[in-house]
Amino acid sequence: MGKMTGFMEYERIEEGYKPVPERLKHYKEFVVGLDDAQAKIQGARCMDCGTPFCNSGCPVNNVIPDFNDLVYKGKPADWKNAIALLHSTNNFPEFTGRICPAPCEAACTLNVNDDAVGIKSIEHAIIDRAWAEGWVTPRPAKHKTGKKVAVVGSGPAGMAAAQQLARVGHDVTLFEKNDRVGGLLRYGIPDFKMEKSHIDRRVEQLVAEGVTIRTSVLIGAMPKGSKVTNWAKETISADQLKADFDAVLLTGGSEQSRDLPVPGRDLDGIHFAMEMLPQQNKVNAGDKVKGQLRADGKHVIVIGGGDTGSDCVGTSNRHGAVSVTQFEVMPQPPIEENRPMTWPYWPIKLRTSSSHEEGCEREFAISTKEFVGEKGKVTGLKTVRVEFKDGKMVEVAGSEQILKADLVLLAMGFVNPVATVLDAFGIDKDARNNAKATTDFTGGYVTNVAKVFAAGDIRRGQSLVVWAIREGRQAARSVDEFLMGFSDLPR
Ligand SMILES: Cc1cc2nc3c(=O)[nH]c(=O)nc-3n(C[C@H](O)[C@H](O)[C@H](O)COP(=O)(O)OP(=O)(O)OC[C@H]3O[C@@H](n4cnc5c(N)ncnc54)[C@H](O)[C@@H]3O)c2cc1C
Ligand code: SF4
Repeated sequence: MGKMTGFMEYERIEEGYKPVPERLKHYKEFVVGLDDAQAKIQGARCMDCGTPFCNSGCPVNNVIPDFNDLVYKGKPADWKNAIALLHSTNNFPEFTGRICPAPCEAACTLNVNDDAVGIKSIEHAIIDRAWAEGWVTPRPAKHKTGKKVAVVGSGPAGMAAAQQLARVGHDVTLFEKNDRVGGLLRYGIPDFKMEKSHIDRRVEQLVAEGVTIRTSVLIGAMPKGSKVTNWAKETISADQLKADFDAVLLTGGSEQSRDLPVPGRDLDGIHFAMEMLPQQNKVNAGDKVKGQLRADGKHVIVIGGGDTGSDCVGTSNRHGAVSVTQFEVMPQPPIEENRPMTWPYWPIKLRTSSSHEEGCEREFAISTKEFVGEKGKVTGLKTVRVEFKDGKMVEVAGSEQILKADLVLLAMGFVNPVATVLDAFGIDKDARNNAKATTDFTGGYVTNVAKVFAAGDIRRGQSLVVWAIREGRQAARSVDEFLMGFSDLPR
């Protein structure tokens, strides 16, 4: 334990943000991380509890009290040990240190009646220093196994799995239908939350560790007319892939956006969030996007109150929208959770993102009944207030109104993976149409099809980056066991 009395002496230190007017002018990250001295104080607040709930609250089970202690001690060797420890559970702490919602902090014992330790900000500080010091280097395998593994989908699950499998000596090929590696990290999450150079550095590391990257290659099939991003120039059939590789791991994500099939849906100006967000990330990467979907000068309504909706708010404000409103069908949650009732679990409470702070009206308990328009273009939404009675959503009589909108972004989550990808392999689906596979210690991530595995959002449904990394790591161990009869990879 760092400092016995640290939690009583020091307040939690939050990471800072650059001012709104300044950050709205660009798409770069604007979080100001902790400096070493601040991280030390933050680390000193950790109580090193007998039962570290943070450790089980973290989906990759980061060994949080130990790295807090090392950062508190603060010598260069301690920081170096801290990154070694962090990498032992998490392949990409720079991703999670930036965009993880930090369920670990909800589970921190201090959070029962005080402010949690700023675990995420410490993680962020450790990995940023590690990159700056040159401590993050490739770790190629000493021996090759001669086994060939195909990983289909290069999001955080696919990247983590590819890295783990390459490090134990397998010949890994990472396939991606889009033109760059990273999945939703690359073409969903805006640069202002996570700049893409962080992915590029890891791609270089993967290549140096022996992973073959094949972008713009679709495995299986996509439905005709699909709005899901697909910049493939080549298609490889599922059968061909199975013939060419000793094992196949599907990490294709859950890409089918939830639609809102109410009258007027076919009007111009109504788009999935995942039509707009990838385009902006492409432009940020220096690509030209013909007829880019933009919010300049428009009244924007974002339907959906989650992360994706919030990212649409931030992007629309950077485009120069006249107004941005975000709808959430659920009632407004409490500002403060009832901690004794919720700790150590993830509480439901009002979450205000940095994008909300940049300018956004938030409407709760509101439902869209119809899109209205003129000359084929959307001009507004007919809405109604809703409430929950006996667990059922009912409309509030007389609460209908029409709200102005020139651009509507549907950000209501993702229903399931693209069915044609799973069907191409003949994968059984679960009740929610995800790839059916357990997470059991033995035989986990195995599908019904011989030598084909599934992990990440394609298996668990729409989730978080940290869960994708966990599943990629665990599935890699399962694939390794299948190929070698045993595995030294951690779960
Ligand atoms: C806008 C947005 C914001 C988000 N914000 C956050 C956040 O702040 N924090 C957080 O933790 N999570 C966030 N998430 C969720 C998070 O990004 C996902 O849970 C995570 O990326 C899932 O990882 P994955 O590797 O399973 O799949 P994905 O990241 O979806 O990657 C799957 C990849 O597989 C490729 N692919 C699919 N099928 C094929 C095929 N047949 N052939 C070849 N390639 C294929 C896809 O093109 C894609 O690149 C956000 C999601 C979105 C959409
Ligand atoms: S990965 Fe997420 S949950 Fe785990 S320690 Fe980091 S911020 Fe917390």
